[in-house]
Amino acid sequence: MKSLLSGLRLQKDNPKFLLAQYDALSAQIPILYVLLVINALSVAITHIHAAPLWLALDIPVALSVVCVFRIIWWQMNGKGRLDAERAYKVMRRTIYVSGVLTVGFGGWAIALYQYGNPFQQGQIAYFLVVTGISCIFCLMHLPAAAFVTTAITFSMMVVVFMFSGNPVFQATALSVMFLAYPFIRVINSYFQNFSGLVRLTEELEEKQKEAERLNLVNSRNALHDQLTGLANRRSFFRELQILLEAHPDQAPIVGLVDLDGFKPVNDVFGHAAGDQVLKETAARFQALIGSHGTVARLGGDEFGVIFPRDMSRDDVSDRGHALCAALRQAYEVPGGSIRVSGSCGIVYPEGGGHTVEELYEKADLALYQVKNKRNGGVEFFSDDLETILKQRHLIELELQGDDFARELKLEYQPIVDLADGRVVGLEALARWDSARFGRISPDAFIPAAERTAVIGKMTRTLFAQALQALAVIPAPVRLSFNLSARDICDQETSMALLAMINAATVDPRRIEFEITETALLSDFDTAYEVIGMLRSAGITIALDDFGTGFSSLSHIHRLEFDKIKIDKSFVMQFEQDMRCMNITRSVADLCHNLGIASVAEGVETAEIAKALYASGVRLAQGYHFSRPLSLDRAIEFVRQNEAGTMLPKAVNA
Ligand code: C2E
Ligand code: CA
Ligand code: CA
Repeated sequence: MKSLLSGLRLQKDNPKFLLAQYDALSAQIPILYVLLVINALSVAITHIHAAPLWLALDIPVALSVVCVFRIIWWQMNGKGRLDAERAYKVMRRTIYVSGVLTVGFGGWAIALYQYGNPFQQGQIAYFLVVTGISCIFCLMHLPAAAFVTTAITFSMMVVVFMFSGNPVFQATALSVMFLAYPFIRVINSYFQNFSGLVRLTEELEEKQKEAERLNLVNSRNALHDQLTGLANRRSFFRELQILLEAHPDQAPIVGLVDLDGFKPVNDVFGHAAGDQVLKETAARFQALIGSHGTVARLGGDEFGVIFPRDMSRDDVSDRGHALCAALRQAYEVPGGSIRVSGSCGIVYPEGGGHTVEELYEKADLALYQVKNKRNGGVEFFSDDLETILKQRHLIELELQGDDFARELKLEYQPIVDLADGRVVGLEALARWDSARFGRISPDAFIPAAERTAVIGKMTRTLFAQALQALAVIPAPVRLSFNLSARDICDQETSMALLAMINAATVDPRRIEFEITETALLSDFDTAYEVIGMLRSAGITIALDDFGTGFSSLSHIHRLEFDKIKIDKSFVMQFEQDMRCMNITRSVADLCHNLGIASVAEGVETAEIAKALYASGVRLAQGYHFSRPLSLDRAIEFVRQNEAGTMLPKAVNA
């Protein structure tokens, strides 16, 4: 009953459903009128001579004219032509019209009933039942109208037939009476099904839209960096590829920008602040480049730019400087104000024949070059870099070969105590005498080994040699061994080193590992863990190249380094540059206060050695004492030193 009543009400607040209902209804209504007109006219014709003309002809013709107008109206305002509000009004009107027309046609037929013979009366009964039911079916999508029509038609029939005195008609009246209820049920359940169908279609459409929306989000995510909304690495390379394919002779101009001093932001201010800096950077870059090129976040704090091909070299350079300047503006975060800087490497390719990888590698090399300069800035890929790049490729190839491990060896540079000139340690330095290229500097092949992941194998090979050397180096002279950032963040290598120490017969307390701060910056937690493990085996740890990197006091504090090595770039300019002298002095003070040793590297003159000693530095190494030596010569050097022949090099001797 409840559903019956709910079906009667037009759902004014459900525009979608109203429209669906209207569309379905508008398809049926013209049929209804055609049926009505044909059947009424056929009754009229058979009654022309039996009843007065006004009743037999005028009324049905007038009603039919109304119907024809209605057909025309519905044809003009059918499916999809109205909005929900209009559809609502039309359907409400249709309910009244259906009542009026049912009374009109029904009343007319019943008025004719008394004039006909039994056959004609049969035709009237047929007209009422069949036409009535057909019309009701046509109105099924508008239950209120269907019910009004049913109620009027059926009650007229019952009243007229009951009092007709004809038992056949009386029986028909009775059956019509009992038919009414199931009939209404059928209409109702049909309408409920229709409603369900509309709902289902709506839900499906909704789901489809949601799926399309998700698809859009997914494809956006696939090509955009989630944090900054910039193009991501993938879409950056894809765009380069497309540009290269479109203009193979005119490779795109590519810039790479890398933030300096970003990693500590995360450490000190937290990741939320780091994220904020990256977002702000993205916005600044986007504002600078705008529609003249593409800015992408390639990962971490590295950004990529594709400049328009028609830009001159000078314009690109200006733009690169503008990007770096944008980085130097302060960033306001909840914890305070942050300052970072950045460098930009650019490849401005002449002519064609480039691949995406080459363009990236060249810009990356230019960036690497400029990052090594103290003040950063902009660097273009040049012919000199081209030579380095070629060498690098050859080295990388050569590193993969079997000869490499055999051609590797160590040299040893003495570390002396400035107080008495005694050799306290030897730093093992890798040497590669390639059969093909001759001697290659560790500054060239170690980064190459890191890039090609040969580094772990190389470190193990060298460390095995170092352990053998230590067995023959006179005690208590200690041995310093350099670990690369990759080694210290790689559990496998560090476990292998520990195993080697355990297996060797030397005292682990004579071994010192030198690590640079870059190792700590890339993955502090792993580095921290590995350092802890090594230290518990009795090894000491020195922080190498102090002053060149980020030089964080928190690192020194948390990692409890045993020693700090002051980078040779400070030491070598010690006499000319007051700043270097001051820095060296403060590092020496710091070490003194923390109770750890400081080592100055790159000591080339007796004057510098003296000045360092006066500044409070205890240990030193450099060409002034000795260049790196072969193992035999290093042992010889230690022996002579012990015998006192080398002692004059001590500053206070
Ligand atoms: P480093 O650890 O800072 O090593 C000191 C570098 O300074 C060595 O260069 C040494 O030859 C040089 N040097 C020493 N005294 C002087 C001096 O008085 N004046 C000047 N101008 N230079 C001096 P080298 O041997 O070319 O090594 C370069 C870098 O390669 C090393 O810097 C170290 O970072 C890396 N390296 C060397 N051997 C290894 C190794 O076995 N493993 C790893 N991972 N890195 C190594
Ligand atoms: Ca070192
Ligand atoms: Ca160093």
